[in-house]
Amino acid sequence: MHLKIITHDKVVFDEDVNEIYTRGVDGEFGILKDHVPVMTALDIGITKVVQDNTTRTFTTMGGVFQFKDNVATILTDLAEDGNDIDVTRAKSAKERAEARLSESKAEIDAKRAEAALARAKARLKAALGKD
Ligand code: ATP
Repeated sequence: MHLKIITHDKVVFDEDVNEIYTRGVDGEFGILKDHVPVMTALDIGITKVVQDNTTRTFTTMGGVFQFKDNVATILTDLAEDGNDIDVTRAKSAKERAEARLSESKAEIDAKRAEAALARAKARLKAALGKD
């Protein structure tokens, strides 16, 4: 089967894969060849793909996942290859967001900080395999 990960700017991934694991708004799910059609909204998180002997991990920051006729498409605002993540930057972003959440009062600030924290955690998971 095939997976394409597409953002506004570029095609981040466009290859054949054996397994796909991603995170929808209703939780994590996996897709194998010949799965029934799926269309669902994605959460901020990671998408893991298994190819013949390799596993690759991408951040996928929201968007839509579609699977039909053994072609999966992820349309997302932002996606990054785990190998391209700057871990130091993601750790600082996580610390900043956690500090903001511990002091923030206005709800709008908390929402922004929560989204920043989720992005930073996804980046660390994609780069290191853990938060
Ligand atoms: P930061 O506070 O570190 O900028 P952020 O979550 O606010 O993090 P975004 O607005 O999500 O950053 O992303 C802005 C751009 O920077 C995007 O192109 C994104 O791919 C890139 N980017 C953000 N964090 C990292 C990282 N840790 N490693 C590599 N690229 C990153």
